[in-house]
Amino acid sequence: MTEQRADAYKGYREPLVSLMARFGITVWCKVDVDTTRGEFSGLVLPRSETADAHHLVLKLDSGYNVGLRHDTIRAMTKTGFREAIYKVPEEAFPRDDRLPEVILLGTGGTIASRLDYRTGAVIPAFSPGELYGSVPELADLCNLQTEKLFGEFSENVGPLHYRALAERIGQAIEQGFAGVVIGHGTDTMHHTAAALSFMVQRPPIPIVMVGSQRSSDRPSSDAARNLIHATFAAAHGDIAEVMVCMFGPTSDRYNLLHRGTRVRKMHSSYRSTFRTLGDIPLAMVEDGAIQSLQTCASRRDDRTVQIRPEFEERVTILYYYPNMNPDILEAVVDRGYRGVVIAGTGLGHVNRKVYPALERARSAGVQVYMTLQTLWGFVQMNVYETGREILGLGVIPLANMLPEVAYIKLGWALGQHPNDPAAVAALMQTPLAGEITEREPHDGYLVFQGRTPEIDEFLGRIWS
Ligand code: ASP
Repeated sequence: MTEQRADAYKGYREPLVSLMARFGITVWCKVDVDTTRGEFSGLVLPRSETADAHHLVLKLDSGYNVGLRHDTIRAMTKTGFREAIYKVPEEAFPRDDRLPEVILLGTGGTIASRLDYRTGAVIPAFSPGELYGSVPELADLCNLQTEKLFGEFSENVGPLHYRALAERIGQAIEQGFAGVVIGHGTDTMHHTAAALSFMVQRPPIPIVMVGSQRSSDRPSSDAARNLIHATFAAAHGDIAEVMVCMFGPTSDRYNLLHRGTRVRKMHSSYRSTFRTLGDIPLAMVEDGAIQSLQTCASRRDDRTVQIRPEFEERVTILYYYPNMNPDILEAVVDRGYRGVVIAGTGLGHVNRKVYPALERARSAGVQVYMTLQTLWGFVQMNVYETGREILGLGVIPLANMLPEVAYIKLGWALGQHPNDPAAVAALMQTPLAGEITEREPHDGYLVFQGRTPEIDEFLGRIWS
């Protein structure tokens, strides 16, 4: 193959090269493809070098990619040509002395990603400077300093990253920034949000985590809107808490600000994936305005903050399932874990079979806490006999703390008091950042997921 030919069929091999040549199709052609599975229209993407030789890859107008097997293709018609350039230029951020100073800390995830056509994978490729290059509206909101702390997909983010983030936030507060934005993968953003809610105590400024469900090379990407709203909340908002800022409804009508300890990723692909559980969101962000929905800690002029990043990593979370055997919990105790959070059924239950292991955990000094799989509502272990028995085995109920938040808080609490179980237990049961609330709003469970009348009624009340 000549070099030019190789480029025209980038990554494709036989039999696809011949097939493409027969219909006059090259990479970056817009095509209508007639296959035995139906008609497809899209852009022919370069093929990953490591992928098989049998599929033509099309980027559909919906933004999704589809692989069409060569022996299903009956005909192809070229309808256009569009070479995509995905390199976003790094640009210096313009300065306006009248605008607040904000720092954007990059950690990776889809918000910092683009598709790599060589491997076909989504890779963390945008530096924060490139992010700005693709969202110039940010310059109207603030003077933005960007810093790439790491480039990880969020499944790889853990205590070391929590610590680095907490310490950098502490410095940013001392440096006088008006707000901090943290770009993060969405998958475990609620874990990091919980960790920062405990590690960064009483921040005087907004700390806004943001991600995106769809990378910025896709037409339906939420990256830019989320970044604009998050930066607005950090620069101009009055809420001095650790928050997550993501799409409210599936449309881009407004974003929601969620409290870092009450938020959870709830949908694998919707852009409106983050929901506040056990409460209602803190605020809505829309067109340069923040509509408060409930009482929050307010921005302060002082620069005082306490950074407490210590974290005990030997903690775990056990998701109870019917017929669970005690050996699971025994193994955890034997491996030297210091604390366990159970996500129990109903009001906070596990089966009788597990009781001896709970007893063993107690005698080994391993603290065991109870949370709920239902996610909404409170642990109430005094209602059924089972609950009372489990309480009797030393399991400590955690009210309406979300299981993941309890896991993070337990690691953090053990980090604060490595040798004082009573202090850990007291800390775990004391609300520090909204992780336990006195009650849940009676309609919070329905709002934003119930029928339209409930939403209208709720919003009518908020707006009246
Ligand atoms: N897997 C990605 C992550 O969490 C998904 C995302 O960013 O939305 O890093």
